[in-house]
Amino acid sequence: MKTIVVLGVGLAGAPLIRQIMRTTVLKSKDYKMIVVSPTTHFHWPIAMPRVVVPGQMPDEKIMYPLEPTFREYPKDKFEFVLGSASSLDPDGNTVTVALDDGTSRDVSYDTLFIATGSSAKDEMPWKLVGTAANTFDRIHALQKQVESADTVVVAGGGLTGAETAGEIGYQYGKNRKKQVYFIYNNELPLSPAVMDSVRKQTKLELERMNVKLMPKTTVTKATIQGKDTILQLRHADGTTKTLTTQAYLPTTGMTPNTSFVPTKMLDSNGYVKQTSFLRAEGYKNIFVVGDAGNLEDNRALAADGQAGHLIKVLPGYFDGGSLAEYKVNTKPMYGITLGQSKGTGQMGSFKVFSFLIWLLKGRFLGTDKAPGVAAGKMTMSATFEK
Ligand SMILES: Cc1cc2nc3c(=O)[nH]c(=O)nc-3n(C[C@H](O)[C@H](O)[C@H](O)COP(=O)(O)OP(=O)(O)OC[C@H]3O[C@@H](n4cnc5c(N)ncnc54)[C@H](O)[C@@H]3O)c2cc1C
Repeated sequence: MKTIVVLGVGLAGAPLIRQIMRTTVLKSKDYKMIVVSPTTHFHWPIAMPRVVVPGQMPDEKIMYPLEPTFREYPKDKFEFVLGSASSLDPDGNTVTVALDDGTSRDVSYDTLFIATGSSAKDEMPWKLVGTAANTFDRIHALQKQVESADTVVVAGGGLTGAETAGEIGYQYGKNRKKQVYFIYNNELPLSPAVMDSVRKQTKLELERMNVKLMPKTTVTKATIQGKDTILQLRHADGTTKTLTTQAYLPTTGMTPNTSFVPTKMLDSNGYVKQTSFLRAEGYKNIFVVGDAGNLEDNRALAADGQAGHLIKVLPGYFDGGSLAEYKVNTKPMYGITLGQSKGTGQMGSFKVFSFLIWLLKGRFLGTDKAPGVAAGKMTMSATFEK
């Protein structure tokens, strides 16, 4: 019997696992699957900017237990291993897993899927922080800080930062209940890949909610003193100052969860070198999907597209056919939610109306789709089972 091993149960992993089970493993006596993940729950990062605002989004909308889906599969066909891949021997076809109970175990595979995604820096629960329990603890601690703070500071000018500043501004800036700061190191919020008109609109909407913008500024140090965090700030012109906050929300980037992968398989940023067939470079039996790979940016749209592609082509491949190539969608697409009623975005070179972003994203932040994705019945853009 051949063993398919999947590492990670995120936006890419969850649908991939269920659909390979349906189309290949459960239909053939030749395959079984082993899934490895340190968490008992699927996590929905897209809603996190609203989740950190106390009372706006209950836990159960962002974390979904895996057990109800996994218990459907026969024991001789499926195994869930609670732990983290700690090393990979790609020539010996073995992954070593550090089990959550403190022991370790070697898992052999015929085909491996690396879907281990990325983690937020500073142990921020924008993504999972190890186990589900630890992630819940981090989320609840942040919510408490935000609730009791006089001053909230969001730092880091990417999508997570802009959306979080928007949610905090919507709840506390508009009515001047708290001072809300947004620190970022470019002239405008969001990355230069986003159209200037969209970046300017983001700035305008945040200013309308009384968010105090601090462009061209970097946090160089954060020191906790009792309930306060003292931030040292440096402006691009070289001047420095301090800012005191009781809720500091850094959104300063992601780290790929690939420390178990041999260095020769990684690029200089630590992402797995990923071919357009979604394989690890040099290894035909190792697939990489989602944030862990270097073919596309860390985006749900990419994780979704890659998982959807593999779900389509793998049944034929496991039947002995060839593997179709994945085509990267190069059209820039951004949807930026700015509080609970506004947004902006871009489709190709067109700016998208606020109402459309609210309708497609801001209303629910994807939590209408999250249960289906968590159960593996759909990706964000395709439904495989009703
Ligand atoms: C706040 C926020 C908002 C976002 N909003 C958007 C958006 O609006 N649009 C958009 O396109 N993208 C958005 N993204 C990006 C999107 O969330 C990611 O691209 C997506 O989650 C990637 O999915 P993934 O399955 O590759 O990885 P992840 O979601 O990171 O899942 C990884 C899985 O691997 C497991 N794992 C980790 N390490 C190991 C290991 N060593 N062994 C085994 N398992 C492991 C984890 O427990 C988890 O189950 C947002 C991200 C954040 C943080």
